[in-house]
Amino acid sequence: EISPAARRSAELEAEITADPSRFRVLTGDRPTGPLHLGHYFGTLHNRVRLQRQGVELGLVIADYQVLTDRDVAEDLEGHVITLIADYLAAGVDPDEAMIFTHSAVTALNQLLLPFLSLVTVPELQRNPTVKDEIAHSRQSGVSGLMFTYPAHQAADILFCRANLVPVGSDQLPHLELTRTIARRFNDRYGPVFPEPEALLSAAPLLLGTDGAKMSKSRGNAIMLGSSSQETARLIRGAKTDAQRHITYEPGTRPEVSSLVLLGALCSGRDPVELAGSIGSGGAAVLKAEVTEAVNACFAPLRARRAELLADPGYLHQVLREGNARAEERAEATLARVREAMGTVYG
Ligand code: ATP
Ligand code: MG
Repeated sequence: EISPAARRSAELEAEITADPSRFRVLTGDRPTGPLHLGHYFGTLHNRVRLQRQGVELGLVIADYQVLTDRDVAEDLEGHVITLIADYLAAGVDPDEAMIFTHSAVTALNQLLLPFLSLVTVPELQRNPTVKDEIAHSRQSGVSGLMFTYPAHQAADILFCRANLVPVGSDQLPHLELTRTIARRFNDRYGPVFPEPEALLSAAPLLLGTDGAKMSKSRGNAIMLGSSSQETARLIRGAKTDAQRHITYEPGTRPEVSSLVLLGALCSGRDPVELAGSIGSGGAAVLKAEVTEAVNACFAPLRARRAELLADPGYLHQVLREGNARAEERAEATLARVREAMGTVYG
C-alpha cells in the first residue's frame, strides 16, 4: 500500500525532471550530532541529487531547535561544523547551496510572529511528531518552543520562498503546518508565499539498531562517519526477530526489513531480491551482508569527510557565506511581508 505522500512524491519527481528550474529546495537538520544513515537515505541523498538536477538548494542548520527537547544545547559550534562536513562529504556543492544557521538570520526569525498568529493552539498541540518528541524529551518540562518550533520551521522554509522540502516522514505534520501558514497568510494579506510540498525518498523512516526511528539523540544510529569496525559492531547488535528465515515485509517485520532495505539501498539491489538471496541464512548472514554493503557504499564519503574536518576554517567560511546570502533573502521577504501586512509606516 502506497501512502498519499509517497504517491505525491512520485508525481513531483516527474515534474522536477521535466523542469527543475520551477523548484527551490529548503530543508535541514538540528545540530545535535553527526548525521546518520537515516538522514542520508531519508533526505541527504535527495538533496544532492536534486542539486545535481539543477534545483536551487538551501540547507538550514536549525540551532534554536536544539532547545526543543533539552535545556542546554551542548557543543553547538562543533555540531554545526560537523553537519557542514557531512553535507559536503555527501556531495552538496557549497558554491551553489546556501548553508546557514537560522539563529544568524534575524529577518527570518521575525516571520515567526505573524506566523504564530495564523495557527491555533490546538493545531500546535495535536502534532503527532511533537507528541513523540515530548515522550523522548530530556527536558525538565515541556517548553513553549516544543509546541511552536513547527511554526518556526515554516519561517525557515518560507523566508526563501522554497516550494520543495525533501524530508523523512516524521516531518510530514510540520510540512502540513507550513502549508497551512502559507495559505492563511496569502488569504489574509495577499499572495506572498508558495505552498511547499514534501518530497519523500524510498526510505522515509529508516529504523535504528533498537527498532525505533534512527535518530541522532536516541543512541541507535549508524553515523555517516562511523568507522568500518564501529559499523560492524552496531549492525551486529541490531534488533531482529525470532523468525529464522529472512524476508522483506516492512509492515509485519519492521526491524529485519529495515536492515534489508539498508543493505539494498547501499548495494543498489532490490530489497525483496536481497532478502530472498539470504533466506534461511538468517540474521547472521543478513547482518554480515548489510555491514559489507554499508562499508563499501560509504568508504568514499567517509574519506572525504575526514579531509573536510581537517580544515575547519574552510567549513566556517562556507557558513559565513551562506549566512550572508540567507540574510539578504530574508530581508527581501520580510519587506514583502511588511508591505502585505501594512506595517510600513511613512
Ligand atoms: P534528533 O534526534 O536530534 O531530532 P534526528 O535524527 O531526528 O535528530 P533531525 O535533525 O531531527 O534528525 O532530522 C533531519 C532530517 O532527517 C529530517 O528531514 C528528518 O525527517 C530526516 N530523518 C531523520 N531521521 C530519519 C530516519 N531515521 N529516516 C529517514 N529520515 C530521517
Ligand atoms: Mg528529529
